[in-house]
Amino acid sequence: MARSYVAEARRRGLGRRRERVGPIVERLADEHSDARIALRFRSDLELLVATMLSAQTTDVNVNRVTGPLFRKYRRPQDYLAVPQEELEGDIFQTGFFRQKAKAIRGTMRVLLEEFGGEVPRRLEELVRLPGVARKTANVVAAELGHAQGIVVDTHVRRLSQRLGLTQEDDPVKIERDLARIVPRADWHRFPHLLIWHGRRVCAARAPRCEDCVLADICPSSRVP
Ligand code: SF4
Repeated sequence: MARSYVAEARRRGLGRRRERVGPIVERLADEHSDARIALRFRSDLELLVATMLSAQTTDVNVNRVTGPLFRKYRRPQDYLAVPQEELEGDIFQTGFFRQKAKAIRGTMRVLLEEFGGEVPRRLEELVRLPGVARKTANVVAAELGHAQGIVVDTHVRRLSQRLGLTQEDDPVKIERDLARIVPRADWHRFPHLLIWHGRRVCAARAPRCEDCVLADICPSSRVP
């Protein structure tokens, strides 16, 4: 279990988690008005593929690959029309290319057989696609305007803990804690705000608390 900044927030008299979420969202939305998904895509299918490719690599790396990839593969059938090795070569730079190529082809097969070639919206349908775990499904559903959960990546995990919004380590339990206190209308933008704040200010090794708009309501702030 992570160090309890939940208890520290109580000790510092910062208010209950639910009460602090509103100001956190408001201030971060002001600070990072450009916070949005960094993956490039122009269709539901491209969003799904880009999100699958983003496992274990950076969004910048994925965007480098998907430009030419999406010009070559436009429909689910296109991913199945080439040998797996050819697709592996086309996504090589994103790492874990064998598993990813296999998962993408498996997903395309299920899309064609069960969903008429369309990307489903519901979380329980998305997680039935090969290689699509809960985090990927949450990203896709949220970007398609149907957020049914809260994306928890490494930044969301770290910041939620530091802000005393959870004392869990496991992403599924963190998501459960966040879903209880973040208003449903903010489920889509909340992770983007934490991710951008994590990249720009609250870095893993050296958080810049002195420049942080949350310093007065953050239980792990290093500002006296
Ligand atoms: S005050 Fe420091 S630890 Fe808290 S969110 Fe800001 S940068 Fe991170």
